[in-house]
Amino acid sequence: MLVDRFGRPVTNLRISLTHECNLNCFYCHREGQTLNFQEMSPEEIERIVRIASKLGVKKVKLTGGEPTVREDIVEIVRRIRPYVVDLSMTTNGTTMNILGEALKDAGLDRVNISLDTLDRNKYKEITGFDVLPQVIKGIKKAVRLFSPVKLNMVVMKGLNDDEIWDMVDYAAQNNAVLQLIEIEVPREMENSWFFKKYFYPLKPLEEEFQKIAIETKERRMHRRKKYFIPTKYGTAEVEIVRSMHNTVFCANCTRIRLTSSGHLKTCLLRKDDLVDIVTPIRNGASDEELIEIFKKAILMREPYWK
Ligand code: SAM
Repeated sequence: MLVDRFGRPVTNLRISLTHECNLNCFYCHREGQTLNFQEMSPEEIERIVRIASKLGVKKVKLTGGEPTVREDIVEIVRRIRPYVVDLSMTTNGTTMNILGEALKDAGLDRVNISLDTLDRNKYKEITGFDVLPQVIKGIKKAVRLFSPVKLNMVVMKGLNDDEIWDMVDYAAQNNAVLQLIEIEVPREMENSWFFKKYFYPLKPLEEEFQKIAIETKERRMHRRKKYFIPTKYGTAEVEIVRSMHNTVFCANCTRIRLTSSGHLKTCLLRKDDLVDIVTPIRNGASDEELIEIFKKAILMREPYWK
């Protein structure tokens, strides 16, 4: 297993499959990716996952851009399935109604679907597209196929913070887990108008959850807490993701990233941490050489908030 200089094991790989997206959320961090070269092929992705699995990576999450805009998404899932224990995808859900079964058959274990609002106008305001009904259909399909289905809600001040409790109810009603996420930006953006306008701290809500939850659990990854909240539709499972200035979050990070341009990346918020792995593959590198590239990237890992 790979362990970094701060004693953190690396067991998770988050792969951005494409920079392209069929929505345009105004707050999107684009997984910290700025480069947009040729995308990796399914064979290249499979090889990188195979090497990662040899080194102790057990969980892979597919993201983007929007991973399902890739025409070969089902092939990619099928190819990497044999190498991982837990294979998941973060998607905006727009294509889930059509692709759900094929993804499930190819071996996808679970999905996170981004859903910031249940209001059609607000959805359009946030994403630029009037597709909420399509996404809702996608969520309903997903909960029939996958478990758990997590709904990712980025909470934004004055925009959707008034919908938190509706979303808690919606999650309970639809058998999904709700992830409430604070906006995350690099240090240099903390003084931006965007961050000042929309950042909604979730700590007070977390304290309220502590009081009303019938049970709490802690996830190893980032030591994130899960709260089981009673609602009129039954119990809602809610996770809170507070990463800004959160040293505990970073101290418990077990993740490395792979950008769609084929670079290992150690942290969403860093800009100086790319290690090219796809060019060596294209130039005929051996597995041993690729293992050394992984080790080099792991050595660069350090907690962003410390
Ligand atoms: N297109 C897919 C989707 O919508 O889930 C995958 C890519 S998207 C970048 C992955 C997740 O990052 C989404 O749940 C999105 O809401 C979240 N996200 C994007 N920008 C963010 C930000 N600035 N702060 C916190 N979360 C963010």
